[in-house]
Amino acid sequence: MDALARQRYSRQILFPGIGEAGQEALLASHAAVVGCGALGSFHAAALARAGVGRLTIVDRDFVEPGNLHRQWLFEESDAAQALPKAAAAVRRIAAINSSIDVRGMVADLTPANISELLDGAQLILDGTDNFDARYLINDFAVSRAIPWIYGAAVGSYGLSMPVIPGHTACLRCVYPDPPSGAQPTCETAGVLNAIVSLVASLQVAAALQILSGHAAEIAPRITTADVWDGRVRQIDGPPRDPDCPCCALREFVHLDSVSRPPVTLCGRDAVQIHERERPVDLRELQSRLQPLGEVRANEYVLRFFPSPYEMTIFPDGRAIVKGTADPAVARGLYARYLG
Ligand SMILES: [Zn+2]
Repeated sequence: MDALARQRYSRQILFPGIGEAGQEALLASHAAVVGCGALGSFHAAALARAGVGRLTIVDRDFVEPGNLHRQWLFEESDAAQALPKAAAAVRRIAAINSSIDVRGMVADLTPANISELLDGAQLILDGTDNFDARYLINDFAVSRAIPWIYGAAVGSYGLSMPVIPGHTACLRCVYPDPPSGAQPTCETAGVLNAIVSLVASLQVAAALQILSGHAAEIAPRITTADVWDGRVRQIDGPPRDPDCPCCALREFVHLDSVSRPPVTLCGRDAVQIHERERPVDLRELQSRLQPLGEVRANEYVLRFFPSPYEMTIFPDGRAIVKGTADPAVARGLYARYLG
């Protein structure tokens, strides 16, 4: 470490948990931030400031005005230009810490590209907004023995859980399958920036511990918090499940894309999403989407019109997104409104 770095990170080096050796380890480390929205833009900025030497940022979305109240890295000009979040993040991080190497990937994380996008990362921070991505990350991370930190926030509530393969339970030990039905999302239920920064901070603290060489000290715990009623709870994470299909039996169904990939319909400006069986209560979804725009539903089909797109959703969770031929856009809309 040179004199400039020693000065720059001096307060972090003074902290006994990090020290000079820990800072050296951070500078030599490579972390991936998957999803650079509310949680991810906080992760990326914090890790850059802490001197994590190499950052990979993956995101498929563009900055919009409705992001700015909670997505710490972005500014009005990013939204006005509708910059890809990964690109806007790289630009801002270069201004925050020009001495680290940051790579932005404007991409939709899929089983086909995850190993290329996250190649070389020693740790993955979950900044995603949907369970498809989290189960894919879990499979990938466990298969490669890479730690990842699960995080989620909606409304005033959020949670975080570190997954350290071989040490803690994995996501599928705790929740063997993704939840069924439409989940509350920031689009449908709103979100406070305070819960985002709280959850993201917990994730970043675990990341710094792991990357500075203290992974063994991390307690297998799930932390939940509600910043509106002020309650914070910690639950001891369950032990690893000896029958867990992922970390015990090493069956990586989400990574091996046993579930069918999204298919672009031929000759039409539409993408069909049928990644997994996921029964959806259309009436309940209708009431959730009603405040956001025109929505029509009966027991067979729901139609929703988030301009300039049209979404048709079926009770088995299948959806057709009209107005795009890009699976990433379609999957982004799906995650936004169904979770
Ligand atoms: Zn497991």
